[in-house]
Amino acid sequence: MTSKGPRIGIMGGTFDPVHYGHLVTAEGARCEYKLDQVLFLPSGKPPHKSMKRVSDAEHRYMMTVLAILTNPHFGVSRLDIDREGFSYTIDALRRLRAEYGPDAELFFITGADAILEINQWKDSDEYLDIAHFIAAARPGFCLEELPQATQDWVGQHGDRFHVLNVPAMAISSTEIRERVRTGKSIRYLVPESVEHYIKRNNLYL
Ligand code: ATP
Ligand code: MG
Repeated sequence: MTSKGPRIGIMGGTFDPVHYGHLVTAEGARCEYKLDQVLFLPSGKPPHKSMKRVSDAEHRYMMTVLAILTNPHFGVSRLDIDREGFSYTIDALRRLRAEYGPDAELFFITGADAILEINQWKDSDEYLDIAHFIAAARPGFCLEELPQATQDWVGQHGDRFHVLNVPAMAISSTEIRERVRTGKSIRYLVPESVEHYIKRNNLYL
């Protein structure tokens, strides 16, 4: 490892709600890439989800804080949710780069499903200049297809694009919301604190 500065993982997401799939992925990336810290970055107004109903940012932020509390290497950033207007990942990355300085190594962690849509992201060609990319396996998404789908995008930056195998967890926030709505248990899919928060605030009903 040649980096002089801190190694910072950034786990972007809507986190509506945060679940064990997110936590296992972040922890896997932290260990594999020897990250000093993983910052969870709940999105403000996500452009691609603007048509759907997304829970209030403060609820998503609070649940994320509750979920990461017991891991001293995890933190939550309000960068995106305190921002006016739509939140684009590239803007957050630029600001984190400015905040941590040129010596920091930034690692943007994302599920493989998100990477497949990379060409639709704003200023997608700039990402790998700012940060490493860690694409995590997610059930239902074929990792073998990744290099093909991302070849053009990765281009000259192959050394900054990484594929990470995490224990398969077929959990999604969509499914959790649906389970709550239909009265099914979400125990062991989200941390207990998050489960209580959802109940207490009557989310997803
Ligand atoms: P939704 O169903 O509402 O889209 P989600 O479960 O996909 O929610 P997001 O907040 O959209 O959660 O995801 C944040 C990031 O975490 C994305 O990069 C996504 O690919 C990744 N991710 C989500 N669930 C998993 C999982 N089970 N395993 C690995 N990565 C995941
Ligand atoms: Mg998603």
